[in-house]
Formats: sequence, C-alpha cells, structure tokens
Amino acid sequence: MSPAPAPSGARQSGGRRVAVIGGGIIGLACAWRLAERGHTVTVFDPDVAGGATHAAAGMLAPASEAVFGQDDLLLTGLAAVREWPRFAADLTLAEGELIELRPHATLLVALDADDEVALVRHARHLERRSCQVEKLTSRSARRLEPALSPRVRAAVRLDEPAVDPRVVARALARSVVASGGAVLPLEVEPDVRDGRASGVRARPAPGVHAGTARGAGAADAGDTHEADVVVVAAGWASALVAALPHKVPVRPLKGQVLRLGAPPGVLAHTVRATVRGREVYVVPRPGGEVVVGATSEDVGADTSVTAGAVHDLLHDAIEVVPELAEATLLETTARLRPATPDNLPLVGPTCVEGLVLASGHGRDGVLLAPLTADAVLAHVEGRLPPRSTDPLAARRLCHKEHA
Ligand SMILES: Cc1cc2nc3c(=O)[nH]c(=O)nc-3n(C[C@H](O)[C@H](O)[C@H](O)COP(=O)(O)OP(=O)(O)OC[C@H]3O[C@@H](n4cnc5c(N)ncnc54)[C@H](O)[C@@H]3O)c2cc1C
Repeated sequence: MSPAPAPSGARQSGGRRVAVIGGGIIGLACAWRLAERGHTVTVFDPDVAGGATHAAAGMLAPASEAVFGQDDLLLTGLAAVREWPRFAADLTLAEGELIELRPHATLLVALDADDEVALVRHARHLERRSCQVEKLTSRSARRLEPALSPRVRAAVRLDEPAVDPRVVARALARSVVASGGAVLPLEVEPDVRDGRASGVRARPAPGVHAGTARGAGAADAGDTHEADVVVVAAGWASALVAALPHKVPVRPLKGQVLRLGAPPGVLAHTVRATVRGREVYVVPRPGGEVVVGATSEDVGADTSVTAGAVHDLLHDAIEVVPELAEATLLETTARLRPATPDNLPLVGPTCVEGLVLASGHGRDGVLLAPLTADAVLAHVEGRLPPRSTDPLAARRLCHKEHA
C-alpha cells in the first residue's frame, strides 16, 4: 500500500499520522478537522459517502427527535446544532461551494386529535428543557406553509434547519485532500500489535486473490499503512472492524427514503408528522428536490427497497402535503444507520491504545458530525473534548467490560 502523500502545507510540530477507517460524514468531518490542523491524515473507504450518509435527509433535529428519558442525546444535539453555522461557514470558505443551512425551520404538524395530544406533550417536554417552541393554530401554520393539508389541526415551529449531506460529504472529501490529506479507495481494518493500534491493514477485495492484477489504489490483503492513531468511523460496520477485546455494540438499523422532484419553493419548512402511527418527514432542498423519509427497521444488514415502504412513505407524505402527488419520483434508497443500544454514539479513545472510535451515530450522524470531529481532534491532540460530548465517551464500553 502506498504511504499517504507528503503534506502540502506547513505542518505544526507534533503533527500525528492518523488513519481514518470510513469516509462517511463522520470519518470525513474528523479527517478534515485533523488535516486542517496539520496532522497527516489518510481516509480509507472503498465507497466514500456511499453508506448512511448517502441516504440521510440532513435534518439537524435534536428537538424534533427528542424522546422521553434521552436528555443526554437532546442536550448534546442542541450543542451540535449551535456548532453547525461555524462548521458550514468554515467548509464554505475552505471549499468554495456554498454549504447552506436550508430550510431554516421545521413544522411538526398534527392531523388528528390523538396527534394533537402527542404534539402538545412533546412541546411541553421541550419547553421544560428550555427549547424555543412556537405553537401554531391550523390557520397560522397554513399561512406559513400554504402547501399543508387543510386537515392539519395544530403545529409547532422549531428553529431546526437542514443541510444536504451529499453536498457536505463531497465538500469534506475535497477539503481533506486540499488540506494535505489523502482519501484511498480501500477496505481496511486496524493493525493491532501488542495491545496497540499501529496502523491499518488492507482487507482483500471480494473475489480478488493475491497476485491478480488490479487498478490504482488496490492493495494486497495484509499490506499495512502505519499510523500513530487509528480512527474507526466505519458506520454500522464499525463492530466488524474495531479489533477491540469486546464486541462494539453497533448494529445496522435500516432506513428507506425517497427523493421527489417538485417545483422549487413547494415548501419553505421541513414538515414532520405522524400518519396512522407512522412518522413521516418531508425536507425540501433549495433546487426543488424533496426528501421523504424514513423507515426504521431492525432487520439486519439488508438494503433492499420494498414496495410497502415506498407506498407508505408516498401515502403519508401526500396526506400531509397533498401537492406532492404531482411530484416526480426521482430515487428510492435504503441504507443502514449505525445504532447503539443506548442511542448514544461512541466517540473517543478505547481500551486499545491508539484506537479511537467515532461511530454509532444512529439517526443523528449529520447533526453530530461537527461536534464529533471536534472531540476526535481533541483526543488526538491530547486535549479535553467539548464537555457536551462527555455522554458519548467510548470508554463507557471499557467500564462495562470491567464492571
Ligand atoms: C434514511 C436515513 C435518513 C437519515 N436522516 C438523517 C438526518 O436527517 N439527520 C441526521 O443527523 N442523520 C440522519 N441519518 C443518520 C446518518 O445518515 C448517520 O448517522 C450517518 O451517516 C453516520 O455516518 P458514518 O460516517 O458513521 O456512517 P456511514 O455514512 O455509513 O459511513 C461509513 C463508511 O464506512 C465505510 N466502511 C465500512 N467498513 C469499512 C472498512 N472496513 N474499511 C474502509 N471503509 C469502510 C463505508 O463504505 C461507509 O462509506 C439518516 C440515516 C438514514 C439511513
């Protein structure tokens, strides 16, 4: 395997060699912040941004998604939303492509009496945690968002924006390289010797045997790339590669999502609702694309798109925004979220020296990417990570192991 290219800019003294396994939004965000700071960074991924990042709607939505009993996630998520404007501005400056936080706000809407009760309860839960909540009547909601169904009985407006994760990931990958890092199309695993991660080792590509001729970037299984720190950011597959003495509790949680083509401006807000007990969201992009999502299925590593899911998502979205019946169906996608049992990501050093985890971001990987990158950067540099990431500490696994 060829070594990472020599750094292009001036390196800070004490810069470290970092190998990042996985080029989804988490691995790329970590790699960019590290490369910017002068560390020598190589990202390894045979399918950059092709995992959950490819499916994600990009909502930065800790309050919409708040669940009773999960205050740690809510508080970390609120801190993450505050990070996003700076992260987007820095990335725009670094890359030249505008990273927009649009739409700026979200409407949670209720279609029937039961929904309304649940919506009021949700709003009260958020208010008790000092979240800004604007309660709207049916009429004021439809004045803000004329495309809403006349059946909407009540709504809540939250200052929760969205980004386009595909645009962000593309900009991050380019910025890693522009900052002197490298992105290599290789499947790898940590190389752990004497209880310490000393780099990564290439895995054989499926169907490829040693000695077979391959294209640029290919490597023989067992080829190694040395590093001082290995960051495991392989999404749901992190459990398969982490090389820890115990199993990393990250599992795949399937999400199916649609992309529709609608006239630009059909919606000014992200709209979220529950239709016959099923959650649905509709996220408009500036160019007219509308993302409709998403299922949440605990069915293992299955990425098939099913007729039933497409039917339900279209039905529920049109129930809330009837005009979407005229939209064109552009894309159906299924990908796997990296879920953990306590719904909190695993970020930071592990029981193996030099091995840092950045995984298990579940439904919130886009939201938490900037904060995760700040935490990983701090760990690599031997500084304390942001306090808001304390609940995510990967070392909680070690404590459980030794309890
Ligand atoms: C339908 C859907 C909608 C979503 N909507 C939102 C949303 O609105 N807001 C939000 O915040 N989050 C959302 N999410 C969640 C978000 O997409 C994930 O939390 C996030 O993408 C996780 O990022 P990641 O980089 O950890 O994983 P991934 O994006 O899955 O990236 C992991 C990468 O690791 C690579 N990899 C795996 N094994 C190896 C190996 N051995 N060697 C090298 N590379 C490897 C893979 O190829 C992949 O590219 C959504 C997810 C889904 C499925």
